[in-house]
Amino acid sequence: MSTFQAPKGTYDILPADSATVLAVREAISAPLRRAGYGYIETPVFEDVALFSRGVGESTDIVSKEMFTLTKRSSEELALRPEGTASVLRAALQGNLHRIGSLPVKLWYSGSQYRYERPQKGRYRQFWQVGAEAVGVEDPAVDAELIILADDAYRSLGLRNFRILLNSLGDKQCRPVYRAALRDFLAGLDLDDETVRRAELNPLRVLDDKRESVQAQLTGAPRLVDYLCEECKEYHEQVRELLTAAGVGFEDDTKLVRGLDYYTRTTFEFVHDGLGAQSAVGGGGRYDGLSEMIGGPALPSVGWALGVDRTVLALEAEGVVLPTPPAVDVFGVPLGEQARRVLFGAVTALRREGLAADLAYGHKGLKAAMKAADRSGARFALVAGDRDLAEGLVQLKDLTTGDQTPVALDALVATLKEKLK
Ligand code: AMP
Repeated sequence: MSTFQAPKGTYDILPADSATVLAVREAISAPLRRAGYGYIETPVFEDVALFSRGVGESTDIVSKEMFTLTKRSSEELALRPEGTASVLRAALQGNLHRIGSLPVKLWYSGSQYRYERPQKGRYRQFWQVGAEAVGVEDPAVDAELIILADDAYRSLGLRNFRILLNSLGDKQCRPVYRAALRDFLAGLDLDDETVRRAELNPLRVLDDKRESVQAQLTGAPRLVDYLCEECKEYHEQVRELLTAAGVGFEDDTKLVRGLDYYTRTTFEFVHDGLGAQSAVGGGGRYDGLSEMIGGPALPSVGWALGVDRTVLALEAEGVVLPTPPAVDVFGVPLGEQARRVLFGAVTALRREGLAADLAYGHKGLKAAMKAADRSGARFALVAGDRDLAEGLVQLKDLTTGDQTPVALDALVATLKEKLK
């Protein structure tokens, strides 16, 4: 072990686990690519004000958990705590909303940073795959995104997840509800911090997981009862489209989520095998965000799914993703000349698109065969001086143990045929 360890709340993704992580990212993004979403990458750090204005001062993500970076100049930067604000910033900066037709559909994959108290499923650096559809107000887009996330989870073999759905109203009806909720909260016995939060954004109190708070919330005014006709109609259409697509969901009138920018449709994917950190993904509509960060009115909707927690959900359900072995063929040279010949053979195989590796470091037969077994390869190429003198190598099937001589110059063709 070295003197250094990965910083608190972070972890390394080692090769034994990385194939699953890559497969999860692939499975989440495949439905998006099929639906016309284009891949976007943005910097891992941004102007801190993008997040304080966009994500919201009252959110834990911004008020407590942001990693801010000190620099020599006065500009203040922060590691991104989430993807939406950055992606929208980039879309505006790149004029994507003017160049193409709307919605601009984007997906991203990357690390996010939150200074949280680490525990299982909650890290200071974690990974999300996310999607945003920018510039259109249409319940079909909201439904599309929820369906694509559902498809992604199902394609991974996950079953024990639920979709919680709510509408947060819009700038007409939400303020009326906010005022009613604030009045209700003012009559409760809450600690100072919660009282402050209730003043900044009373909806966030609904999100409080503590039993002592939840117990007092029975009888709180419900957002559904305050939705204006347009919001009700919009929400009904989202629900109908999901039902028609065979996607089940639960109405959750208390679902507000931890970010301030959401309007109308909000949803969360929860997994029942994950304990406290049960949210595997979530998102919603954010019609006001573009204007909040200085852009034109661009009603939008998006989600982010947590890669780390999706991996934990797979473990909880006992789903093992089929991950191909790293290499198909492994060279075992016996002697100096064989080393040179097999090095050439392995290079030729790779150039032909086969995955091949070689025992390095002058290993003896036993150690080299062990390395071949460990590599997961289906075939070992064993060559000693006598074989080479005849222009042959031994092809050993590592599953059956069968060994057959193959002419060196027929090696590529033979292996291509066998590995088809
Ligand atoms: P949010 O941006 O908070 O809506 O989170 C979206 C998803 O990202 C969550 O459902 C989690 O799967 C994942 N996530 C959020 N915070 C963390 C964290 N600290 N550690 C691991 N995953 C997280």
